[in-house]
Amino acid sequence: MAWAYIKDANIRAIWSPWVQNLPQLGLALVLFFGGWMVLQGDLKIGQILAFNAYLLMLQAPFMMLGQLVMMGQRAKASAERIFEILDENPDIVDRPGAYDLVDVNGAIVFNHVDFTYGNGVEILTDFDARIEPGETVALVGRTGSGKSTVARLLTRFYDVSDGAISIDGHDLRDLTLHSLRENVGVVLDEPFLFSMSIRENIAYGRPDATLEEVEAAALAANADEFIVRLPEGYDTVVGERGYTLSGGQRQRIAIARTLLLNPPILILDDATSAIDVHVESGIYEALKGLLTQRTTIVIAHRISTIALATRVLLLDEGHVVASGTHEELLANVPLYSEILAQASGAEWS
Ligand code: ATP
Ligand code: MG
Repeated sequence: MAWAYIKDANIRAIWSPWVQNLPQLGLALVLFFGGWMVLQGDLKIGQILAFNAYLLMLQAPFMMLGQLVMMGQRAKASAERIFEILDENPDIVDRPGAYDLVDVNGAIVFNHVDFTYGNGVEILTDFDARIEPGETVALVGRTGSGKSTVARLLTRFYDVSDGAISIDGHDLRDLTLHSLRENVGVVLDEPFLFSMSIRENIAYGRPDATLEEVEAAALAANADEFIVRLPEGYDTVVGERGYTLSGGQRQRIAIARTLLLNPPILILDDATSAIDVHVESGIYEALKGLLTQRTTIVIAHRISTIALATRVLLLDEGHVVASGTHEELLANVPLYSEILAQASGAEWS
């Protein structure tokens, strides 16, 4: 993409002096030959002047025509890309007869799940886990071990290759996608903010939410304190074309967004990157508010986030190799302390 722009600039740099100066060149030629013909007596001065005036009148329309052709070409190229995406059929769709997930308790069962992204590399192999309603479980594993993949499977951005995932006994593939995603909220490690106001970003899943509700969610997510200090408060536009927020601030906005939706099942993919201690405690408080009374899976790298959970699942080589409290795993599973040591090492590097 960048190369295409550079090439574009290059071609312009070479050709636009020619294109722009060609009319002047034409004028010089007309004057030269015309003048010569006048001297020969073949032409009158008035005729040259008239000819020249017509020539000038023609110039602008022809330049416009050139621009139009160029714009047409660009529009065609852009439209092709847009249609490519519009024509793309999603792989994951509601199966015929899919029903809505309602009145969720929040029992999640991974039943011998195998998963590959389709390139032959098996990411999850015989992944087996049972999470009770209302439980908070931390998922811990090396980087690349498939933690975020578990989150993607539970929200059905991909389907399992083998085995099954169920919520309250319903196989995910039997449920409608919109009801599933309404009930399973995800806070991603790299939260996405739209280029619009903070208020609209928080209310994204519930555009009808009142300003009071948005503020309450922001307050619970510990985001209110920095939002009110921004030049335009909740109306501050963020994202690509607006105010740039820090990673910790973006995460708190994402937490507020999820709080407003209040899903019975929550997955929190915690950012690996180091966040300063003050901000971290802010997020920690925000998270505590988020965890009450719902089934939660936190994908954790930091001990402070792991501490939020009542149980830790240790993921290695595609499946759960140990399950227990943080203290139990610390005492009995060498791999666990090893991974924690690596994670905290990465925080300081
Ligand atoms: P981290 O702690 O760094 O976030 P993770 O445990 O969340 O890691 P995943 O994102 O689940 O790891 O990825 C698990 C493996 O799957 C990795 O080896 C990754 O390269 C691979 N992977 C992830 N997404 C895709 C994809 N869309 N297509 C193919 N392979 C993928
Ligand atoms: Mg991840």
